[in-house]
Amino acid sequence: MLVGTFNLVMAERLTRKVCSNCKTQTSAKENPKYKFAKESFRNFDKDALKKEILNRGITQQQRDDFINNAMVYTGTGKDPISGEKCPLC
Ligand SMILES: [Zn+2]
Repeated sequence: MLVGTFNLVMAERLTRKVCSNCKTQTSAKENPKYKFAKESFRNFDKDALKKEILNRGITQQQRDDFINNAMVYTGTGKDPISGEKCPLC
């Protein structure tokens, strides 16, 4: 259980909410944490996991992208249009 919780924390880090203005999709396939995080999703009690995901503000789309494609969202901190510092984060 402790290991599951630990992995969920890593999973949460990989799928955390990021700035909507400057977010980009990147692949976590090469990240060794991805394998563990994915395993933790698989082994976690489905109802408890659903609650965790909702509580953490992770969308179903983010979860599916992560599980199926190892896609994670990260904020660049730069405005995608101007290239200047992102005004929202
Ligand atoms: Zn931003």
